[in-house]
Amino acid sequence: MNRRKLVAELKKQSETVWDIIVIGGGATGLGIALDGASRGYKILLLEQSDFAKATSSRSTKLVHGGVRYMAQGDLLLVMEALHERGLMLKNAPHLTFNQEFVIPIYTFWDALMYTVGLKFYDLLAGRLSMGKSYFINRAETLSRLPLLKADGLKGGVVYHDGQFDDSRMAFALAESCAEKGGIVLNYFKVTTLLKDERGRINGLKATDIASGEEFNLKANLVINATGIFADEVALMDNPDSKPTIRPSQGVHIVLDKSFLRSESAIMIPKTDDGRVLFAIPWYNEVVVGTTDTPLDKISLEPVALEKEINFILQTAEKYLIKPPRREDILCIFAGLRPLAANPDNPGSTKEVSRRHKITLSHSGLLTIIGGKWTTYRRMAEETIDRAINTGLLNKAKCVTANLKLTTLASNNLSERLHIYGDHYIDIERMISENPGLGLPIDSRLPYTKAEILWICRNEMPFNVEDILARRTRSLFLNARASAEIAPEVAGLMAIEFGYDRKWESDQIEAYDELVKSYI
Ligand SMILES: Cc1cc2nc3c(=O)[nH]c(=O)nc-3n(C[C@H](O)[C@H](O)[C@H](O)COP(=O)(O)OP(=O)(O)OC[C@H]3O[C@@H](n4cnc5c(N)ncnc54)[C@H](O)[C@@H]3O)c2cc1C
Repeated sequence: MNRRKLVAELKKQSETVWDIIVIGGGATGLGIALDGASRGYKILLLEQSDFAKATSSRSTKLVHGGVRYMAQGDLLLVMEALHERGLMLKNAPHLTFNQEFVIPIYTFWDALMYTVGLKFYDLLAGRLSMGKSYFINRAETLSRLPLLKADGLKGGVVYHDGQFDDSRMAFALAESCAEKGGIVLNYFKVTTLLKDERGRINGLKATDIASGEEFNLKANLVINATGIFADEVALMDNPDSKPTIRPSQGVHIVLDKSFLRSESAIMIPKTDDGRVLFAIPWYNEVVVGTTDTPLDKISLEPVALEKEINFILQTAEKYLIKPPRREDILCIFAGLRPLAANPDNPGSTKEVSRRHKITLSHSGLLTIIGGKWTTYRRMAEETIDRAINTGLLNKAKCVTANLKLTTLASNNLSERLHIYGDHYIDIERMISENPGLGLPIDSRLPYTKAEILWICRNEMPFNVEDILARRTRSLFLNARASAEIAPEVAGLMAIEFGYDRKWESDQIEAYDELVKSYI
């Protein structure tokens, strides 16, 4: 993917009437773009910032049915998500992993409830199950989780779920869509929806953030896949539309793996004050998080509240022998989830079912909100099917259930470079031709110079943050270390793209500023 070439292609196609223009380059929009392109539609996707900049790079990184939703009795959602979990692991083996979880058990009642409940979870997964769940005694629990506090512990329940790299998954979708002839562009902000004389949407205006150039684009169908920003696009369609979304913020902290010292993850579905707590190994570190807090402000760069961070630290301390302190945190990241606001009483909220919601406006704007990363494929299929069933698109069959995002098989993954899918061979070649490129860019981060260069040439980064936050996960794994390598990354980008010294220093300054809210 090369942004300059794709923009040139868009200009060449200025008279094209796209079958579908998708607004939003997160999990939902990219899933739809890939679904549409693989069915043979002419697809354009526009993302105002970077792909996965918003919620889709800030998830807990689980490919899961949702043990919690089962406790809430939402079995249909769990079954659907477990099926999608299986497909995602099959179709993207380079970005997904089988993760063992242990639920520590403190009462006889919990032992019974979680053992039976998780057996049922396995059953719902059917032939796509990732491994059986079972009860383990206290000694076995402590051998798997050596840093779990032992007070009152009766045992544990082991179960399996998937884990993944969310933003790299977004690039895998973008690339597959581009391979199928779709155009996917980051840093393209949709500003206006265009309508015909009957008031039906027939295109949109978008601004290329890189050049400031404005584009008028024609489409048979516009899909609003903008997540927490969906109300902003709804206002472009109908200035009288009422707010339907209130954001809820989930915060995670990343700690050194020495705080868990285990390959197993800890899941506590209900702490003694009724919250969730999880600690999950991820790329050699540990992601720790808990439940969400409702907020009033929607932002592309949400910032964790100090009280949320303290809450995670205090809750973790109750369960971990080595209590994490504020200064131990390698990264803090916050993500926003849309809650359904009551339009007649904006103060009150109820959670959108974690199931997605698809709506069609009078003027033909198809909007999809909610759902989960795990179910992105199914959401895309339903969105396009809905457009077909309402006569907005010609009939074509969905093929994504068996669409592989890499040709790598799970038993043929390169030690470390598998996250680039088939391209790991190109990166290995770069390193064999110039071994210096194979050295780690920083001893605290699992990335080499070769990867940074390969990313510049193939994954449309526009600024230093795009490389450090989403194409590599440096910012999320160790924010301070990522700030220290920002000058080198800016230098490499400047050489690759022909930028001047001023660009480099502006980038370093902007990145340093960004990092402040991640530490
Ligand atoms: C804290 C948290 C943890 C989560 N953990 C998990 C998990 O472990 N597993 C799981 O399956 N799911 C998880 N989820 C859910 C999952 O992350 C989301 O369902 C998913 O990322 C939503 O993707 P999206 O594309 O709808 O929204 P987003 O990722 O927010 O994408 C919307 C995009 O639209 C763009 N946009 C907005 N306006 C415009 C415009 N005018 N022009 C162009 N582009 C525009 C935005 O820039 C943005 O990139 C989690 C969610 C949260 C909040």
